[in-house]
Amino acid sequence: MYDYDMIVIGSGPSGRRAAVQSAKIGKSVLVVEKGRRVGGVSVHTGTIPSKTLRETVLNLSGWRERGFYGRSYRVKQDIGAADLMARLHKTLDHEVEVLEHQFSRNAVRTARGEARFVSPHTIEILAEGGELSSVTAAHVLIACGTRPFRPDYVPFNGTNVFDSDEIVELPKLPRSLAVIGAGVIGVEYATIFSALDVAVTLIEPRPSFLDFIDKELIEEFTHELRDRNVALRLGSAVSSIHLGNDGRPTCKLADGRTVASDMLLFAAGRVGATDRLNLDAAGLKVDHRGRIAVDPKTLQTAVPHIYAAGDVIGFPSLASTSMEQGRVAACHAFGLEPPPPPEFFPYGIYSVPEISTVGMTEEEVRKREIPYECGIARFRETSRGHIMGLNTGMMKMIFSVKTRRLLGVHIVGEGATELIHIGQAVLNLKGTIDYFIENTFNYPTLAEAYKIAGLDAWNRMVRA
Ligand SMILES: Cc1cc2nc3c(=O)[nH]c(=O)nc-3n(C[C@H](O)[C@H](O)[C@H](O)COP(=O)(O)OP(=O)(O)OC[C@H]3O[C@@H](n4cnc5c(N)ncnc54)[C@H](O)[C@@H]3O)c2cc1C
Repeated sequence: MYDYDMIVIGSGPSGRRAAVQSAKIGKSVLVVEKGRRVGGVSVHTGTIPSKTLRETVLNLSGWRERGFYGRSYRVKQDIGAADLMARLHKTLDHEVEVLEHQFSRNAVRTARGEARFVSPHTIEILAEGGELSSVTAAHVLIACGTRPFRPDYVPFNGTNVFDSDEIVELPKLPRSLAVIGAGVIGVEYATIFSALDVAVTLIEPRPSFLDFIDKELIEEFTHELRDRNVALRLGSAVSSIHLGNDGRPTCKLADGRTVASDMLLFAAGRVGATDRLNLDAAGLKVDHRGRIAVDPKTLQTAVPHIYAAGDVIGFPSLASTSMEQGRVAACHAFGLEPPPPPEFFPYGIYSVPEISTVGMTEEEVRKREIPYECGIARFRETSRGHIMGLNTGMMKMIFSVKTRRLLGVHIVGEGATELIHIGQAVLNLKGTIDYFIENTFNYPTLAEAYKIAGLDAWNRMVRA
């Protein structure tokens, strides 16, 4: 009756995972992608490019060795934009190749063009050359993601005023950079450029930043940024931005201060890429940020055979969670019952230093009035930390005093985004402080911090 069992709009993490999952259970799938290559924001402008840029910067700048050799140590003296781009293009090519292979191996068909609804089961595809075709499907997944929010007062020019999608292809390295928006993306780029010794100013209208992270961790992180001369302008709304005669962007802040820089990155928010989908024809509406509401358990929209997943449905807007959403949507569409999602998922912020967190923050535990105790470990207390020359880095664990259960793990420092998974496993398996005290950890590792933090909390609990 229909051309396909499932049409997926967008080939980012949620679309890709839904397509492969549907194909694995024998369904016919078409992925429509308007970009030049498959992969979505995640592969081309978001997750992978920013992480590749970070890795390149840390390697070429010799960042990880500076604890031993001093702040002026560099692996490559003159690092230019071309150095950063070389590794980026290689990595992206590889990612796309793996994806294309995954699609062809699983007989997932792809069509290049922009999709829009003509009716709830019919999608029209506008190819780059202007040709139109239409296809029908029993189920549709909207996985179109987001694009950067670009307010009129920002003079974007692709030369020295960028949004977060454009910055990955920057033409040359600035000596100074202003970043507007201290959300995850803004903080990541601000700290990556600061590791290259670019003078960075981070501007945020709210008085604090990354409010979903444990406050003590943010204090530690802020201290490190200030120590590196990152200028933080918190509680400072931008009232105007203009380009001077020399072409340099200057931000006027509502508190009367001015920030002039060689380059400006506007990273304050993203909006759902839904405006060209003709959602009215499907019977769907979006909110003021272009996002689509779904049933969080099934990922169904208000029209039951149309699903939405990934950034277009809002929080948490991560590649990691988007993949799971795609899988859940596909399973539900074809009558498979996916297991309920685990209670806690990790959050990774690839700033320099990294931050990663899973479970409740100390603020949340207090709000719920759970009697608790914390344990802290500093990476410089571990032998691995000595070997690596780490002067910074901290892990904080929170335990329930009544049940001894682990409630949250919060890490800032080298390897945080990898280390967190030990805490995640213990948390989701409802483990207690005893796991950390009684088990042997490889030595010397940074993971030993779990034992140190566990014992620290245990000592306090015993004393109490
Ligand atoms: C700078 C940055 C850094 C990030 N870092 C991380 C990180 O470290 N870890 C992490 O987990 N997440 C990270 N994210 C978030 C992550 O990239 C997103 O959560 C993820 O990409 C969302 O996936 P998605 O499935 O919504 O699709 P997206 O990746 O958003 O892709 C959507 C695709 O749909 C296509 N599309 C849109 N409209 C149409 C249409 N009408 N027809 C056809 N195709 C269409 C687009 O071209 C695009 O290819 C980062 C994001 C950014 C911007």
